[in-house]
Amino acid sequence: MELKKPTTPANPQVLNFGDTAVAFAHRTDQELKDAKLLFGFINRPLLNKIGSAIGAFAIKWKLPFAERITMQTVYKQFVGGRTLLEVEEAAEKLNQLNVSCALDYGAEGKNNETAYNTTMTECIRAIEFASQHANVPIVTTKISGLASDDLLLAVSAGKVLSADDEKSYRAVAKRLDSLCHVASEKGVQLYIDAEESWIQPAIDKVVNNAMLRYNKGRAVVCSTYQLYRHDRYDALVEQHNICRSGGVILGAKLVRGAYMEKERARAKEMGYPSPINPDKATSDAEYNKAVAYCLDNIETIDFVNASHNELSVQLMLAGMQTRAIDKSHKHVLFCQLYGMSDNITFKLAAEGYRVAKYLPYGPVADVVPYLVRRAQENTSIAGEMGRELGLVIKELERRKSEV
Ligand SMILES: Cc1cc2nc3c(=O)[nH]c(=O)nc-3n(C[C@H](O)[C@H](O)[C@H](O)COP(=O)(O)OP(=O)(O)OC[C@H]3O[C@@H](n4cnc5c(N)ncnc54)[C@H](O)[C@@H]3O)c2cc1C
Repeated sequence: MELKKPTTPANPQVLNFGDTAVAFAHRTDQELKDAKLLFGFINRPLLNKIGSAIGAFAIKWKLPFAERITMQTVYKQFVGGRTLLEVEEAAEKLNQLNVSCALDYGAEGKNNETAYNTTMTECIRAIEFASQHANVPIVTTKISGLASDDLLLAVSAGKVLSADDEKSYRAVAKRLDSLCHVASEKGVQLYIDAEESWIQPAIDKVVNNAMLRYNKGRAVVCSTYQLYRHDRYDALVEQHNICRSGGVILGAKLVRGAYMEKERARAKEMGYPSPINPDKATSDAEYNKAVAYCLDNIETIDFVNASHNELSVQLMLAGMQTRAIDKSHKHVLFCQLYGMSDNITFKLAAEGYRVAKYLPYGPVADVVPYLVRRAQENTSIAGEMGRELGLVIKELERRKSEV
């Protein structure tokens, strides 16, 4: 018997996301011209690859002008600032347009205990900052910033840990617990990113435990579900049932997933079945099914639609209407990355929906891996950067025709 493939329903078109005047009302002509240049560059895979490699090298070796050039290009587009003080300005601009922020300390890929403690301390500072700024309700972090990859890999693989590793893993849970405790006290929400499938079980273990401990009455901590994986819809339902039995709210960030090529390459190399759906249509259908599940259980799931996919947003809007869920329901949030999909973010905000930008910040050198990922993940995915470039060009032409 042939298996029935999941399909996505037709596009309901609740809002018009082609309105570039709304999307870019906050950007000057010069800023749009700079964005056009940048997206034009990023959109060319070869140039992008070479540029990213040279940029990362120049920053690493502190070559003259490297930091300044990065600051004036990719950094300006995708990052809120080097420090919390600098982030304040970007956050305030978003606030004026009814968009809130999810603060993300962007340091990635450092592997030592000092760096893990620094990440934790920085995250606590971000939570304190958030508690003092009404439009910064969320702080995000990655467990790989609080633990070594080797440890997460060993736990995920179910290996017997040495006494030292046991101690280190307990230290990871403790770091997360400290973050949850401060977030809980300060009325801030903590989002935990999803990462590669081979370290995700160790992440899920500590995050799911934290949810049971802290999500009484409100979702202090939220896990992330990558719907490009064929097993994540079931994981979402399973965790929801566990949370319900434990009398707590499930906090869920829904994403498609950022590591598709890496996942497929490793699975092929090591000879195990890829955890990724066979094609984009299946990932889309899984994503939309997860959104519908969360809407159906909105009183016990606090969730965020973290996507730049217009159809997934339109379907969620239609789903809210059908289920009579209010635009301002406290368990419903939309979120896009800073510097991307402004046509979705600002239109949703203008129409009164709850919407946030993922706002990374940190020293230029530390944020480089994030920037390279931003620039590179999209060249492999037809459309994403082309979409951004198309919108910027459309708005520049609209403004020209106005004068
Ligand atoms: C606020 C926010 C937070 C995020 N947090 C995380 C996180 O914690 N962890 C994480 O991994 N990612 C995260 N992402 C990135 C996200 O997973 C996606 O990579 C990115 O948003 C693009 O997907 P999209 O939903 O916007 O839609 P689209 O642009 O429509 O979809 C692109 C995505 O579809 C999937 N896809 C593409 N081609 C195929 C194919 N042939 N087969 C199967 N699937 C395919 C891939 O996941 C690809 O990234 C986040 C994104 C946002 C906006």
